[in-house]
Amino acid sequence: MRITACSKKRVDLYKNHFSFYRKYAFVVFNTLRKPLFQRFLNWMLRRERIEEHEIKDVQIRMFPFIKENGNGLAGKCNSKGKIHLYPKGLKFFRKKMQEFGKENVNFYIKSRARATLIHELLHLKYVSDEEKVRELTEKYFNIFTKHQLTQNSDVHDIAKMLFK
Ligand SMILES: [Zn+2]
Repeated sequence: MRITACSKKRVDLYKNHFSFYRKYAFVVFNTLRKPLFQRFLNWMLRRERIEEHEIKDVQIRMFPFIKENGNGLAGKCNSKGKIHLYPKGLKFFRKKMQEFGKENVNFYIKSRARATLIHELLHLKYVSDEEKVRELTEKYFNIFTKHQLTQNSDVHDIAKMLFK
């Protein structure tokens, strides 16, 4: 797993908010590498019979991916087992920060990263069955969240933000 910036053009495009996106990428990186979450992923992969060698590369992209329709993309996975994870844009967080507060936004960033990686890993098996992948993502995400025994009482709100 590694953090990548894509291209110099993208760095230039986001240079005014470079430190925000760099910090974001490190939060995602550290969240996904936590032993508790890694153990959980291994368990999920075994359960789904997804072989570890099918995962060729996991890249945490530093900058958002905006689709042609203007919507952002959380992650993608190609048929060769390369997974890319993308951040949400700064604008989104400025709004959410006022609405939910810093702590919840941080929690959201971590949860979104976990849910996205779970989602993209499941695509290795269920390829283009988006409905199945979504259903299982929510299921596994909830299993992990419960397992984590988090004291955060806003888990429910976060789940709503993620899966609305
Ligand atoms: Zn998908």
